[in-house]
Amino acid sequence: MPGRIPQHFIDELVARADIVELIGSRVQLKKHGKEYKACCPFHGEKTPSFTVVPDKQFYHCFGCGAHGTALGFLMEHDHLSFVEAVEDLAARVGLDVPHEDNQSARAAVPTDGLFAMLERASELFRRELGNSERARDYFKARGLSSDTAERFALGYAPDAWDSVLRHLGTSDAERMKLLQVGLTIEREQRAGVANSAGYYDRFRDRVMFPIRDARGRTIGFGGRVLDKGEPKYLNSPETELFHKGRELYGLYEARQASRTLTRLLVVEGYMDVVRLHQAGIPYAVATLGTATTPEHLSRVFRICNELIFCFDGDRAGRAAAWRALENSLSQIRDGRQIRFLFLPDGHDPDSLVGEEGREAFEARLQTALPLSEYFLNHLSSQVDIQSVDGRARLAELARPLLERIPEGVYRELMSEEVAQRVRIDSSRLTAALAARDGSGGQPYRRVEEARQRRPIPPVPGGRGSVVRQAIRTLVHYPQTAANAPSSEGLEGIDRPGIPLLIELLNDLQENPCANTAALLERWRGRPDFDPLFRLASSEYPVDAAGAAHELNDALTQLFPERLDQRLDELLRKRAREGLTDAERTELQGFLTKPQSAVDVAGHRT
Ligand SMILES: [Zn+2]
Repeated sequence: MPGRIPQHFIDELVARADIVELIGSRVQLKKHGKEYKACCPFHGEKTPSFTVVPDKQFYHCFGCGAHGTALGFLMEHDHLSFVEAVEDLAARVGLDVPHEDNQSARAAVPTDGLFAMLERASELFRRELGNSERARDYFKARGLSSDTAERFALGYAPDAWDSVLRHLGTSDAERMKLLQVGLTIEREQRAGVANSAGYYDRFRDRVMFPIRDARGRTIGFGGRVLDKGEPKYLNSPETELFHKGRELYGLYEARQASRTLTRLLVVEGYMDVVRLHQAGIPYAVATLGTATTPEHLSRVFRICNELIFCFDGDRAGRAAAWRALENSLSQIRDGRQIRFLFLPDGHDPDSLVGEEGREAFEARLQTALPLSEYFLNHLSSQVDIQSVDGRARLAELARPLLERIPEGVYRELMSEEVAQRVRIDSSRLTAALAARDGSGGQPYRRVEEARQRRPIPPVPGGRGSVVRQAIRTLVHYPQTAANAPSSEGLEGIDRPGIPLLIELLNDLQENPCANTAALLERWRGRPDFDPLFRLASSEYPVDAAGAAHELNDALTQLFPERLDQRLDELLRKRAREGLTDAERTELQGFLTKPQSAVDVAGHRT
């Protein structure tokens, strides 16, 4: 929703930000000439190719191609939305985020006060934990220290229908907010029965686990029964703030515990996460009553490269594990590791780590099955691998799953392994399956081909062209636009990149901006965003004065071109159908005044 926040504010925000300080607080930067270098936080590497450029206020990585401004960094690294990143950065530099239209902004983004309401609820539950010996005994019996309870802000929702309502729902507006964040439920209104209460508490007699977003704000709750009871776990419903398919319980705490996570362990319950953290395994997270989604995984893999799923060894656990595998396939890439750990029957991570301690539990993690192995074991167990039919069936079961893996080395290797199990050469298998399919076959692409990264499309205008030269100068030194000729007269030039150049010139002359990052932010969400970044990251060993010269040179070369083209047009039209009066005057001008092209076009110089 970038539109809701005025562009001039984004300009100012990015201009005020200090990207070196921002990134430096999360990644160890080393000064290197005018720039800073680090090992890239977005891909694993040993030699630094991640570069922060203070002059331009942006970063880029030669290794993986990551790039961005201070806002982009907060979005990528801290997993914030654009609006969250703007708010975060604004808070850092001490600016208030204005909205173009406060009335409509409030109506459209009704999250005002919702975070605060959730925070108050969290405090209430913590107070109630203090009041309830039974709830405290429950945590004690599970071996939780008060430190851990504090760190996870654990609480207790009393056994009442209106505890939250009474404490927090003291006005209509607040009752509305409680409903919006899922803390209360609306009573069904029976016809003819007036119901003054209207709502009741969702969580009753449960120990409460606040679920926090990337910035540590409470966005929902998980509640667990103390004794036997159903459902064992109850979560906040989906709300404007809480999306189960995206959030992972414990991720905020895991990131607090370590800035450089190398692996994450996905378990099934909140209690497991809390216990594992306490036992010295602070990289445990849990999904929120849903299967692991591809979105979860892409979040995880932006943080680290190794993921271990941990499931109970029972049937439900195995079914959940296979679902997790299916949802993982689209996220498999070279360098990402996904493994599966099955616990002995009757154990969950909570009980197991309590019994055997961190070291033994971590030793178990070492034995987790790689995804490929689990994949093949599972499929093989469903067929008679000894028979030809069984092996063909295995290949058939594997095919649609293999197709979900992005093309590349990993898919190649997996299909080779399947081929080995079915004892058919992998190219023959591919062909055989394609033939069965009747699709004519789409052989897996060659490894080398798949290894090539999809290139970012080049900036229109082509390499080395005058248009590209002008665009590059503007991107590196946006200030040079102020003293450059206006774009008038460029419209007619038939060259790639001209529309972009015109837009850049017009935009920068109307609204000058302080640096490259601010300029790039204006292009966020548009197709030219990445190409412009690429250009901004390219070597450009020219100082500001030299840049102003280059820009003027490029434009001066372009204007005569425009005039030549126009002269041609007029001459051809005159020969073909004759000219209007205005065109005749224009042509006269060309033929009688041998001025410099830029002067003819009426440009400032
Ligand atoms: Zn990188």
